[in-house]
Amino acid sequence: MLTRSTTRFFVSIAGTLLTLLVGLTGWAALRSVERATGEVERAVLVLDLYQTSLRDGLDAEASERGFLLTAQPRQLAPYEAAVRGNSAAVARLLALTADNPAQRARVLQLTRALSSHAASMDFTIALARAGQTVQAIGRVRAGAGLEPIRQIVREGEREEARVLSDRRRAQARARATLTLVLVPGTLLSFLLILVVIRLSREEIREQRAQNESLARISASADEASRAKSEFIASMSHELRTPLNAIIGYQNLIADGIVGPTTPRQADFLERIRTSANHLLGLIDDMLSLSRIEAGQIQLRLQDVDVGLALRDAAAMIEPGAIQKGLRLVVDSPDPPLSIRTDRQRLGQCMINLAGNAVKYTDAGEIRLDALVSADVVGIRVSDTGLGIAPQNLPRIFDAFWQVEQSMTRRVGGAGLGLSVTQRLAYLLGGDVHVTSQLGSGSVFTLTLPRTQDDAAHVTP
Ligand code: ADP
Repeated sequence: MLTRSTTRFFVSIAGTLLTLLVGLTGWAALRSVERATGEVERAVLVLDLYQTSLRDGLDAEASERGFLLTAQPRQLAPYEAAVRGNSAAVARLLALTADNPAQRARVLQLTRALSSHAASMDFTIALARAGQTVQAIGRVRAGAGLEPIRQIVREGEREEARVLSDRRRAQARARATLTLVLVPGTLLSFLLILVVIRLSREEIREQRAQNESLARISASADEASRAKSEFIASMSHELRTPLNAIIGYQNLIADGIVGPTTPRQADFLERIRTSANHLLGLIDDMLSLSRIEAGQIQLRLQDVDVGLALRDAAAMIEPGAIQKGLRLVVDSPDPPLSIRTDRQRLGQCMINLAGNAVKYTDAGEIRLDALVSADVVGIRVSDTGLGIAPQNLPRIFDAFWQVEQSMTRRVGGAGLGLSVTQRLAYLLGGDVHVTSQLGSGSVFTLTLPRTQDDAAHVTP
């Protein structure tokens, strides 16, 4: 089905093409109306010029006769003007009838008739001037006078009247074509423009409604995300309290406070401790993640000794490393180096990285050290463990993502540690990088700025 904007597009194109077509045909029709009108005017002019030549002939004759009767030379002034006028009229007639051979032949005939009439009148006038008035008057009486000219003019007018009526018909046809093109064409173009305007309006209305519903969805998504973070935070808190009680009672029993335990009971108690601590770690990670997402983490900046931070993290993972028979090496910076950062968050990051190193290494060594440059310190956790396949590297920082379910089941974890670590690193103004080789081990580097602008992290 066509969408509204596709329909609008096609209607617009059709409208534009139609308007163009109407414009071009209208222009052509207008030109042919102009041409036809020009032809009509030409025929009217030809008729007019025939009349003029006849009138000039009559004027010349009247003037000639006036001279014969009065012998006054001034009587000849109209005669001369009429002869001059006639030759001008005939020249125009020749030009105007160039495209009509019959008419042109008639005009040539008229030219000859007019000049022979003029020559005859000249001769008569010359006789009168020579005092032979009687002969002159006799010539006038005997002569054919204007009759041949009248004859030619009549024929010419008849022919031109026929031409004129043909041309009037052609003019009417051209006008009708123009009306036929312009009226429906303009109406149709106008109609298409109206349709386009209507479609555009509906589209704008739809777009607006869509934007509003998007804004509503986004607002409710924000609301849902806030609600989720609040839910996780309060759930985590609710889970921690009984879990801490379980760990506390387990400690009391394991320490023999309520009486001695058998080796089997001690083994079970140790399993309870491990599982409870693992669960506590998961809850902490979830809590951290939801707090970071909700923007609720407030940094407390202080001067932190990097060597001390490395040793603290090592101390936390040492039991696990010893249990797996791993060598734990701590290489503190020399001379000692202090950076401005949040001690607790840095500790959390390092324990996550070092804890993973122990989790995913079965033999060899875990090494904690620091690379120091002018502005940045890179805290490194290297292991000789499983390593990570190159195709998995981009995903390990995603929340709840783990390389392999079976492995993770074996070692525990929810796929949150690296995600939390990376987000905390961002908060501390740094980042986490990893290089790894499948089967030979991984190096995680937490880069942090050596100094921080305290004002940017004021805790209320
Ligand atoms: P998990 O709780 O599964 O350890 P993490 O976010 O800490 O979650 O790690 C994500 C995944 O990255 C792990 O499931 C593991 O497959 C891989 N990974 C993390 N650290 C290492 C490491 N040091 N060596 C090998 N694989 C690692």
